[in-house]
Amino acid sequence: MSHPKITVVGAGNVGATCALWAAARDLGDVVLVDIVDGLAAGKALDLAQAGPIAGFAHKVTGTTDYAATAGSHLAIVTAGLARKPGMSRDDLLAKNAEIVSGIIRHLVAVSPDVILVVVSNPVDAMTALAHRVSKLPARRVVGMAGVLDSARMRTFVAEAAGASAKDVQAYVLGGHGDTMVPLVRHSSVGGVPLAKLLPRDRIEQIVERTRQGGAEIVGLLKTGSAFYAPAAAAVEMAQAILRDERRVLPCAAYCDKEYGVGGYFVGVPARLGAGGVMDVLEFDLTADERAAFDKSVAAVKDLVAQLAQMGY
Ligand code: NAD
Repeated sequence: MSHPKITVVGAGNVGATCALWAAARDLGDVVLVDIVDGLAAGKALDLAQAGPIAGFAHKVTGTTDYAATAGSHLAIVTAGLARKPGMSRDDLLAKNAEIVSGIIRHLVAVSPDVILVVVSNPVDAMTALAHRVSKLPARRVVGMAGVLDSARMRTFVAEAAGASAKDVQAYVLGGHGDTMVPLVRHSSVGGVPLAKLLPRDRIEQIVERTRQGGAEIVGLLKTGSAFYAPAAAAVEMAQAILRDERRVLPCAAYCDKEYGVGGYFVGVPARLGAGGVMDVLEFDLTADERAAFDKSVAAVKDLVAQLAQMGY
């Protein structure tokens, strides 16, 4: 795609940082949208003025009006409440469902062929909601979590192994919550399995720190949640789609027969390219991994059932 149009909804911490990564990678023209008058316009103007210094050429604009987003190829949805200390992602369900469903209606009305990358939490449920409200084919709707969770695990492994994070492979599957499934067996440093490099208790610490990776940052910040790595992860997915890179990235993709999930969006390795999710790749899971994955999927199903009870 020569000149993609990317909308980022929510000009808060994650949204503004998505706009920054997208602009810095010269992915396309960026339209930043927020409900707060002037917030998106102000941040977009500031970011556009970084272009001559940082060397990016695409337009960056900000608005409260969805008319300016018309014809978007891809939209990253980051609007909504973020966690405060003591809150789980699931505590955000009712409020963010209201916000996300409204946004999706506005977006799709003017960009019927858009591809949605959902970030707002609880992300697996918000991705399902975005799919239902948008009526887009499931392959055009995907949630961001696995790239972030895996990046957290890669960072911790790199630190423990004294290696470059670039050489660390790690996969985190399942829902984006306390039940997420870091796949130790498929994690490696330069192709050498983790279990050969680190003692078992060190690996268990890394797995637990990965599961609590978001809460650790919420606890430090006290007034908000992580945003640099979440935004980098969402833009990595956007780039894979817009540039048809066919990257295999862990993300909340629609699974019906895949992994026997039965029609929900959950974290699995998905190939991202032109058109969105090209396919889902299936690992052979051990009995323990399968049990952890099923538990995580059950947590996602429970959230979707709660949404249905609320009338979504
Ligand atoms: P933030 O409070 O900094 O920004 C949220 C923005 O959304 C605000 O600017 C607000 O004005 C805007 N907003 C609210 N309602 C809106 C509406 N109807 N239309 C347009 N804009 C609206 O929060 P943040 O740190 O940027 O986090 C945003 C969301 O992303 C949260 O739900 C957070 O939990 C989630 N998140 C998800 C992941 C993930 O891995 N999936 C990671 C980090 C954050």
